[in-house]
Amino acid sequence: MGKYQTYLIFGAPGSGKGTQGRAIGTIPGYYHFACGDVFRSLDLRTPLGQKFLEYSSRGELVPDEITVQLWKIRIDLLVEAHTFDPQCHCLILDGIPRNVAQAIMLEDTIRVRRVIHLSCPDRSKLAHRLKKRALRDNRFDDANESVITHRLETYDKESLPVLTHYGSNLVTRFDATQPAIVVLSQITALLVEDRAALSLEDGFTVQK
Ligand code: ADP
Repeated sequence: MGKYQTYLIFGAPGSGKGTQGRAIGTIPGYYHFACGDVFRSLDLRTPLGQKFLEYSSRGELVPDEITVQLWKIRIDLLVEAHTFDPQCHCLILDGIPRNVAQAIMLEDTIRVRRVIHLSCPDRSKLAHRLKKRALRDNRFDDANESVITHRLETYDKESLPVLTHYGSNLVTRFDATQPAIVVLSQITALLVEDRAALSLEDGFTVQK
């Protein structure tokens, strides 16, 4: 089987990756997969669940080997179950790759068509959104100020280089401080533009 046709949703914690990814995933032909959701679905009493808890509660990334292995297992299961059909679904990948090492590890599996960069240079705005989310979604990784600060530092140090790795030709920047519906309309306009190129991909059927 060829590589998965993929859009990466990329941005700092609180930039709206999940909101946009979930909305795009409701459109026929697009399948949303969020790495953070996979981790959160783990039983926290298992060794893997404990590892997730250990790193995420400090505002750090889970080690690459564990993350990519878990990602591959989950995506294979979705393909087997025909939930995600690589022949007619574009993968909307949210939260992975989160550093250059992961991007390299995924090279054999995904064909990155574009990186959708949800940009919000105003860190105080992000921190404010995360604190609101902590109350709403009961997320322990957003619960206190020092973890939030560390998550944002980890993003700057480890995740931002992913943009340089893919290069400016592949990256499209969106102003993540706009209302969610405005960002969504801009992203979907881009997806519509890309349909012609996708239809030329061997073995891929663009859904009508
Ligand atoms: P956010 O939406 O705030 O960016 P996520 O829900 O994507 O956060 O991820 C929550 C936590 O799960 C991260 O802080 C990290 O500890 C872990 N995690 C998620 N994706 C990855 C990844 N690709 N590599 C390593 N750790 C990850």
